[in-house]
Amino acid sequence: MNNPSLRLHLTITFAILALIPILVLGSIQIFQIKNITNDYNKTQMQTTYRLADAVQTYTYYHRNAVETLATTISASSPPFRTRESMTLKLQSVKNNLPGFSGLFVVNRSGGVSAQFPEAAAGQKPLLGTDLSGRSYFQNVKAAETTTITPLFRGPEGADKPAIAIAVPVYSDQKQWDGLVVGVLDLQEVARLVTKYDYGTDAYPVVLDAEGRAIYHPEAAISDSLTDLSGEPVVQDTKTHDQGQGKYRSGVYRQDELVTYKKIGDLGWTVWVGRSYKAANAAFTDTLQTTIILLVLTLVLTVVVGNLLAKRLNGTIHALVGYTQKLADGIFSVPDKKLASRGAPYELQMLADHFFRMAGQIRENQRALIELNAELENRVADRTQSLSRKNQELEIVNGLLTPIMTRRNAGEFIEDSMAHLRGLIHREVRLRLHPLTVSTSLGRFKDAEATAAPDGASHPNGSALGSGSDSGSDSISGAIVPIQTGGQTLGSIVVGGNADSDSTLTDNDRKFLLTFANTVAIILQNDMLLSSIRHEHATLNAVLESMSDAIVLIDADRHVVYANRRMTEQFGIPMPQLLSMTEEALFSAIAAKLPEPDDEWTAFTRKQRLHAKCKVTGENGKERFISVSAFQVSGDGHSFGRGYVWRDITKEHEVDALKNDLISLASHEFKTPITSIKGGVETLLRPDAVWDEAFKKELLEGIHEDIGRIQDLIDEWLDISKIEAGAMRVNVQPVRVASIVQSAIHRLPQHAGAEHAEFELELDSELPLLKADKLRMEQVLVNLFTNAIRYNQGKPVIRISAESDDSFVHIRVQDNGIGIAPEHADKIFDRFYRVDVSSSRQTGGTGLGLAISKGIIEAHGGRIRVESEPGSGSTFIISVPKFRWEEGHEHEEA
Ligand code: ADP
Repeated sequence: MNNPSLRLHLTITFAILALIPILVLGSIQIFQIKNITNDYNKTQMQTTYRLADAVQTYTYYHRNAVETLATTISASSPPFRTRESMTLKLQSVKNNLPGFSGLFVVNRSGGVSAQFPEAAAGQKPLLGTDLSGRSYFQNVKAAETTTITPLFRGPEGADKPAIAIAVPVYSDQKQWDGLVVGVLDLQEVARLVTKYDYGTDAYPVVLDAEGRAIYHPEAAISDSLTDLSGEPVVQDTKTHDQGQGKYRSGVYRQDELVTYKKIGDLGWTVWVGRSYKAANAAFTDTLQTTIILLVLTLVLTVVVGNLLAKRLNGTIHALVGYTQKLADGIFSVPDKKLASRGAPYELQMLADHFFRMAGQIRENQRALIELNAELENRVADRTQSLSRKNQELEIVNGLLTPIMTRRNAGEFIEDSMAHLRGLIHREVRLRLHPLTVSTSLGRFKDAEATAAPDGASHPNGSALGSGSDSGSDSISGAIVPIQTGGQTLGSIVVGGNADSDSTLTDNDRKFLLTFANTVAIILQNDMLLSSIRHEHATLNAVLESMSDAIVLIDADRHVVYANRRMTEQFGIPMPQLLSMTEEALFSAIAAKLPEPDDEWTAFTRKQRLHAKCKVTGENGKERFISVSAFQVSGDGHSFGRGYVWRDITKEHEVDALKNDLISLASHEFKTPITSIKGGVETLLRPDAVWDEAFKKELLEGIHEDIGRIQDLIDEWLDISKIEAGAMRVNVQPVRVASIVQSAIHRLPQHAGAEHAEFELELDSELPLLKADKLRMEQVLVNLFTNAIRYNQGKPVIRISAESDDSFVHIRVQDNGIGIAPEHADKIFDRFYRVDVSSSRQTGGTGLGLAISKGIIEAHGGRIRVESEPGSGSTFIISVPKFRWEEGHEHEEA
């Protein structure tokens, strides 16, 4: 167990609880002491400054007194400068200003001329002593200014360390005349310095300009004139006038907090020093106390916490131990005494409840064990029957699952049959009726076709239909019909058991019925699917092979179907078409209309159900299309709309032809009929008697006009046949020379053949044509007529022919007006004439070449022209050669 025990938990909690206030209070105290220490340091600084002021004032007063004395002496005339009078003056100063240990006057040669006080008994008097060697004497003599000496030892201070103030004295001629010296009483200075309270462990020091102690608490240092300028703090005063810091004291050999200040004009230094330890004593004391308190509290709380926890722990341990036993499955009677060892009342209650609960658990456990045993028995029974059901389900599932995996129905029935054999331990076979076998199951290798729709006639078994009687139990095999909707599709034949003679169980029989029903459903589905597929394929084939284009639009106005003709007709690729909306489709088609008219607009707005439009195709040719809209609906539900687009170019052309023919009739028939009518009316006049010659002339004119009408009618009939695709030719072996000769003879009188010259260049070796003799003559007559008609001089017509592997090419060359290249192709169109005005004179109808082209094409041949305006034209007709091996029979093309 990695988790800490309750006892440790409690102990730690107590310790934390106790530590928090101590830490908080200790921190506050440390903070306060720190502040107090800082204040204290500030106070030391101020005391130092005050001391410096006091020392400065003190020397200022004494210097002033000596200077006043010198002035007084300088002012007295020589007769009054007696020793007595000077001594009196010295005395007066000494008495008025305490602090001088002695005062004396020195004459210009250095001898002491007056002294106060007198030398004490046993002491060498100063009078007469030569002080000219003293540095202060030299200084004053040289500079004639007041000099304050550094600390020195001499008779002036009774051989004790002393400081003297020396001031020059002048004669009445204002000449330097010696000096007055006041020696300061250092005892007084010491009194001045020590009268301030510096605090515990603090001491003041006064140093002269050379670093000797004027006052030092260690008297020996002053007495011995020890030079303290080596002390670190004195070093600092050379660069700073005042300051505070931690310095090592050479005298006390300890770290001190020192505050110092330099007295400017004197060059003296005062400092107050205090042991660093003392300065920080309060702070370290508090810290120590806090730490000790912390440790004490810690120990105390650990002990107290431990004791408290121990009391709780006993009971809890007992409970833990007991639960452990329970967990291990040992249900012994709990020891009640465990809980009563000084534990709190609540814990005892808890233990009591717990023990009672444990008792109940023990009871329940026993009951549960019994129940469990009973359940186990029941589960064993159920498991057995479930495993059987599971196997059955697996087999049925096997039948159904492949519907998703798209496996062949035969394959999965076969799989399931294999499982079925395993389940009932018998041979199982499937017999299907020929109708069923013809579906996709035809490939099912286990199936055997049977002619008998009724399985009950099986000699070795009994039928297991819904009405089967229980007597069949004694028979080992069975035949189960596969039925659906009253139709028997086949049967499942169950063989006898080879290993044992056991009969089919109830479960086996029930499951066989379920199996047969499922197989029936699958077979029916499969049959339905095949027939739907077949129907779909048929419908699709019908739609795809339609010559009309069809497009279907769903209720959301999206294209859902379009046949191939639709993509061909409008040149829109299928994928693009199937992603279009109805609107997009109409605008795509409108883009192909040269001029979308009102009829089209009304159609796209669904105001009309039919429309006709002209479309420009890929090759730039115009085609005419009629479109009809229809509703797609069934079972009272509308699925959308459909559009059928029919190419009516042909019909349109036929219409145009009819119109052309009608106008031809009205134009061309009018003249001959009028002339016939005139001739006949003349002959029929009752009042006139015509001679025979005139009558003959009139009748010949009528005859010619009738012939002309007949020709027109023939042309009309021919072109109608050609347009309707009904031009038939009666082919036979024909010689070129023979049809050329016949054609020349057939040329009508009015053609002007008598003026024309024919040059025939026909090889006698030329192959025979496979052609309709009369029709070929008609073509040649037509070409000859044109050659004469479109000729402004004497017509010369040269006819030649040559052959290749399959064709004979007949060339009809004239010396006529020729045809410009832009007309060369069009002259074969019906009613096309190069020069309409001239043809009116020449009497052409524009049908001759169109008919010729129709006749030659009906032969499987070709007609073309080579021409240049002014240099004649050559028409070349290519007609198939006759082949003997094709037989002599007359073919109709
Ligand atoms: P048409 O009855 O006007 O002769 P065709 O179909 O026979 O009708 O001829 C069509 C047009 O071709 C004529 O109108 C004429 O302009 C031109 N054409 C036909 N044959 C010749 C030719 N040999 N020389 C010049 N132009 C010709």
